[in-house]
Amino acid sequence: MIAIITVLALIFIIGTIFGSFLNVVILRTISEESIVVPASKCPKCQTALKWYHNIPLLSYIFLKGKCAFCGEKISIQYPIVEFLTGLLFLGVSVFYFHSSLAWGFLDGFTFNNVSCWIFTLIVSCLYIVISGTDIKSLAVYELHTYIIMGVSLIFALIQSIHNASYSVLLYSLVGGVVFFLFVAGLKLLFDKLLKTEALGDGDPFIAGAIGTAVGAMIPDGAGFIILGLVILGVFLLAPLLYAIWMVPVYLYNLYKNKNYYLMTILILFFGYVVVYLFASQFGWLENNLARYLSFGVAAALGLWVCIELMRSLRNNQSSVCAQIPLGPALVTSAFIFMIMIPAMYGVAI
Ligand SMILES: [Zn+2]
Repeated sequence: MIAIITVLALIFIIGTIFGSFLNVVILRTISEESIVVPASKCPKCQTALKWYHNIPLLSYIFLKGKCAFCGEKISIQYPIVEFLTGLLFLGVSVFYFHSSLAWGFLDGFTFNNVSCWIFTLIVSCLYIVISGTDIKSLAVYELHTYIIMGVSLIFALIQSIHNASYSVLLYSLVGGVVFFLFVAGLKLLFDKLLKTEALGDGDPFIAGAIGTAVGAMIPDGAGFIILGLVILGVFLLAPLLYAIWMVPVYLYNLYKNKNYYLMTILILFFGYVVVYLFASQFGWLENNLARYLSFGVAAALGLWVCIELMRSLRNNQSSVCAQIPLGPALVTSAFIFMIMIPAMYGVAI
């Protein structure tokens, strides 16, 4: 038991160290600095950091989020990315090797498991970088998408050689081309016909990258119909994730713009919906009166929210919404499918 906990903790710590590096990649891509050469330094007072200021998560906690030299606030991005990457390493590793972790057998270390595990981690790290730059500077750097395409094609080629069949390489290639063209076409449609910039310039490239990555995970001989369904799934799940993670960002923007009125009724509405779902799940709304009454309140609140949203849109406060990039939702959706495909096909033991 202690051995398992030690291994899990170690995997998490290794993940946070990688996360630390991803932070550097995100920031230096945006500021166009070299990733390797200059040592980490405070962006304000330019003092070079000591090694103990660079410990993932712990340094942020001990420094209470401030530079040790000048007291400048350290961006919350650092601990968030480090924690997320640690969680990612832990989750993906447990997913592929849970039997080995639990029983100590080495049966889980098959060619398929080990290669898919490494591939998923590399691509997910790049997903984090893409999300980071997209959130921070509203820009997707095409280089990152090309690296995903390259890594995915290499992985697909290795799988193809291992299987002595080129279908996985084909899935990866076709997946990338089809998804790129699909999203590029959609962007053209939105830009020209609807005159809205609903999709960013980088979104077709993200689609191309995740198309090759997801395609490379399709098992040998599964067929192009499965590939098509998976890409459709990634595409349909993305707006759903976008909506879910847009709600807190939208609320935060309302708070920043001091629109407390709309913020309050939105929180009231979502809070009520959550309580309502719980209550109906636990069978507290058995009698008809309680059911109709609670549903009536939900409908009334929903109507109120709609009216207030319309009013704020007409007053042109909708700009708080336009600043939220789609990229993170796309890559999260792709990540979920990269885990779901082997889960469905029973690749992980
Ligand atoms: Zn400083």
